[in-house]
Order: sequence, then C-alpha cells, then structure tokens
Amino acid sequence: MRKAIGIDIGGTKIKGGIIDEEGNILKSIILDTDANKGRNMVLKKVREIIENLIRNEKKVVGIGIGSPGAINIEKGKIEILEGNMYNWSGVNLRTELNSFFDLPIFIENDANLVGLCERWIGEGQNTDAFVVLTLGTGLGGSIYVKDDILHGSDWRCGEIGHTILYPNGRECKCGQKGCTEQYVSGRGIEKTYYEKTGIYLSSKEIFNRCSKGEQTVKETISEFIENLAILIITIKNMIDPDKIIIGGGLVHSRDHWWKPMIDYYNNNCNITKGTTIVTARHLNNSGVIGGGKLVFENISSDE
Ligand SMILES: [Zn+2]
Repeated sequence: MRKAIGIDIGGTKIKGGIIDEEGNILKSIILDTDANKGRNMVLKKVREIIENLIRNEKKVVGIGIGSPGAINIEKGKIEILEGNMYNWSGVNLRTELNSFFDLPIFIENDANLVGLCERWIGEGQNTDAFVVLTLGTGLGGSIYVKDDILHGSDWRCGEIGHTILYPNGRECKCGQKGCTEQYVSGRGIEKTYYEKTGIYLSSKEIFNRCSKGEQTVKETISEFIENLAILIITIKNMIDPDKIIIGGGLVHSRDHWWKPMIDYYNNNCNITKGTTIVTARHLNNSGVIGGGKLVFENISSDE
C-alpha cells in the first residue's frame, strides 16, 4: 500500500504524519510552530518533521501540506496570510522544500484539507455539497461542490472568517472591520470577554468558568452562540449545502454551546430543510490526513 506524508502547519503547532491509503496515521510528530520567529524557523521545523517521518520509509510517494492563508496550489505558494504567522506571506513552500526532498509536494489551504479528510473518511462522504467551518484560534472555511474544492479567482474562496458580521466592528488583520472571525473563534470569544471585563482569559479558561455561574461568561458564550448561528444561517442561504461540518479546537468545548446554537439556528433560519449541521468526524488530525489524501489524489497509483 502506498504511503504519503501529511503536514498541517498551524499558528501554534505543526503536525506531521505518515498516512496510508485507508486514512490511517502510521506515525506522527508534533512540534511548536514558533511562528513569531519568522518563516525560516517554520521552514526548518517543517523540514525536520519530514526528515524524521521519511527515515527508513520506502513507500512514501509524496508530501501534502496545509497552511493557513490564500494558497496558490499551482505554484505551491502562500500568497497572503492575514493571521498570526510572522513573515509567512509570500513563501513558496514547494520551492523551499523541493531542494531538500526528491518527492512531489502539494500545498493547500488548511481548512480545505480538513474538508478533504471529511470527504474521504468523514462527514463529507456521499454529499452533493458541503461547507466546513474550522473553529479554532481563528475561523477557517472550505466549500466543496460536486466533490471539488472551490478555490475562487484568487485562491480566497471559503475565507468565511472574513465575511462581515458587524459593520464597523472590531478591526481585523485583513484590513476590514467587523469580520466574523473577530467574534466567532477562540480569539473572538477572548475579545468579547475582555471588552466586558477588561480581563484577558484564554477561551479555554472562559469555557472552564461556564459552570461557575459568572454572568459575564454566560453573556460571552451566548453572544458566541448567536453569532455562530447567524453565520450558519448565512451559509445555508448562500450555499444550501447538504451538510455544514464544524471542526477545529472549539468543538472540544461543544457541551457548552452546541445545543443552544442549533436551537437558535432552527428558530431563526427561514428554511432549514435539506441541510444537516454536524461536528467533524476527525478533529485533531484531519489536516494531516487531508494532506495525505491530497498526495494520493494528485498521483495516480500506477506511477
Ligand atoms: Zn478579516
């Protein structure tokens, strides 16, 4: 059976794994990204992960890598990233790595790889169209129609985090004001809590305080719930997919928000028929598995 390397570059961690053709992870490595130290540090870590994974492996046929940002998949380049990785915009990941590894290298947007994983062995199977939301530190998105990822005219399709939720709202790194990501994400929850209290807590701590009855925590979470439900109503009306699949780290805290979010959606969306809202089947490793699938899809098995 063929094997592929899948890499998921995130703002805090870089994950890598060897994937087989059934989607199993045979070996994996995680390193801190140290994104604030710039592109050379991140590239060094990606190389280190690949070198460690590939050692003594004979059947690896390629490397599939996910990164945040608008990814030019033809050039293998990160065109623009408005997130928190210093100096990462403009990196041609394929060129940088090709001088070290004699394997085909494919690059995709990280949320698109979550979608690829879900379409392969998760919730996206047997659908006509589905939308993925990745709720983590930020908010990513991916749109699949008829088994194809939509990339858009300039690789920005699915940047759902930068649709505007509040006109003239919180400033976003992309240059707009009131982007959905500023409200519907881990960082968004932290900002909401900070605005109410002047205290900075991580989203994890805020969720941990849910059971203690603190009024500002309740308000913070209920604003997050409404904002997420409103985004889902927009997606329902715009795309009308079979499924909206929600992944990302915040899904681990879903006991605090899932049911009221679905209730708000059902009570406020004009027509909910035809669309199911589900959590992603693969949470922590979907980017790595999707990276492997990206390789298998791009290299025919008799090559
Ligand atoms: Zn934005």
